[in-house]
Amino acid sequence: MAADIVMDVKALKASGIIPQKDRELYTIRVQVVGGHLTSAHLAALAAIAEKYGRGRVHLTTRQGMEIPDVHGRDLEALRRDLAAAGLRLAPGGNRVRGIVACPGGHCRCGLIDPQVLARKLSESIGSREGLPHKFKVSITGCPNSCAKPQENDLGVMGTKDGLAVFVGGRVGKHPRWADRLPVLAKDDEMLLRMANAVIDWYIANGATKERLGATIERVGLASLEKSLASLG
Ligand code: SF4
Repeated sequence: MAADIVMDVKALKASGIIPQKDRELYTIRVQVVGGHLTSAHLAALAAIAEKYGRGRVHLTTRQGMEIPDVHGRDLEALRRDLAAAGLRLAPGGNRVRGIVACPGGHCRCGLIDPQVLARKLSESIGSREGLPHKFKVSITGCPNSCAKPQENDLGVMGTKDGLAVFVGGRVGKHPRWADRLPVLAKDDEMLLRMANAVIDWYIANGATKERLGATIERVGLASLEKSLASLG
C-alpha cells in the first residue's frame, strides 16, 4: 500500500501536480518557456487560481508559475481550463524541465534572442523520454550570464562568435559548475543538434538517478566531446 502511494506521488509530480503537506490539496505547476507569458495567459491563470485555488500564484526560482491549494477533485477540470487557455502542466520527473531564459532579445547587452531559442529548444528536446534523471536547461543572452547557464545540465550563452555550450552544471545539495564545451554552436540549428546529442549521450551512459555532471565525472568529458565531434 505504501509503495502504491509513493508511485502515485511520483506519477503526479511527473505530470506537474505536487501533493502538499495538507492531504487532498495540490500545487499545480504550469509550464512557462523562458519565463515568458502573454497578458492573456496571465489573466487566465488569475481566473484559474481564483476558481480552483485561493487566488494566489507562486513564481518559482526557475521562472515557472504554480497555483497552490487546489483540491484533488478539481484537478481534471483545472487541466481542461489550462488547455483552453493555451497552457499546460510543467513536466517533472526524469525529463527536460521548463527552460529558463533571460530576455536578451530586448536587453541592450543581448547578443542572441534567448526567448526564440528557448521555444525552439523546448520544441526539439522538451518531449525527450528515457533520461536517467531531471535535465535542466538555461539560456542567457550574453556573458553576463543572468540566467546562470553554468548551473544547469545544459547551458547556452550568446557570445560574439556563436553560442557557447555548458554541460553538467547543477545546484542543490552537491552543486557543480558546468564544463564549457570547446566548440561553439554557430547557429540555432547546430545548437539543437548538439542538445539532442548531449541527451543521447546522457541516455546511453547515465546511471539511474545520476545527473549529467556526475555521468561526465564518471565516464569522462572526452567521451561526450567525442560524441559531439561530427556535428560541426
Ligand atoms: S545575460 Fe546579458 S542579455 Fe541576458 S539579461 Fe543579462 S545582460 Fe541582458
